Amino acid sequence: MKTIDLYVCEVCGKESRVLATMEEHEEMCKKEQALKIKREKTYKKELEYFCSQLDLDNIQDVINDYVGKMFDDHFDNITINVYYNENASNTHCAPIGGVENWHRKPDLPKGYPGFVGRIKGTYSKKGKTLSTYSGSFGMNYAIPVHTGTGGGGGNTWEYDVTLFLSDFDKLTSRVARMLLELA
Ligand SMILES: [Zn+2]
Repeated sequence: MKTIDLYVCEVCGKESRVLATMEEHEEMCKKEQALKIKREKTYKKELEYFCSQLDLDNIQDVINDYVGKMFDDHFDNITINVYYNENASNTHCAPIGGVENWHRKPDLPKGYPGFVGRIKGTYSKKGKTLSTYSGSFGMNYAIPVHTGTGGGGGNTWEYDVTLFLSDFDKLTSRVARMLLELA
């Protein structure tokens, strides 16, 4: 009878017969676990910082600063093409402290001021699309922008995006300036 060596990841229990494979896996697994703990501890602070920094002309830098700290990851070629809508839809998302209104109930808000459009980029260094990190704003450790319809294909991804003004200090002042110029 023969015996075989089986290597088991101490973090997640994944098994491999190949030592090098498991060493590589376990190193990644430990890093991801450490990042997860860090995200749980620093999410509130980092969310606040993200919201205070994001503007239309620095979106790639601000997303990468966040993604670097929270996920040890990085995106390239992020572009955003949005227009201002004083009544951006809240059917599938809402600003922090706001409410979603999918059923268009008359007693609830039917929108909030925001920028609406598309966000595009290439896959991250870990091979992920933005939506991997997206989700309910303020509810988990996702990138704090609301993404909608979209997905990845080839080397790039793109999604509908909504940035509610009240979530982002710099967008709020941008619109204030814009409205002043129009007045
Ligand atoms: Zn593992």
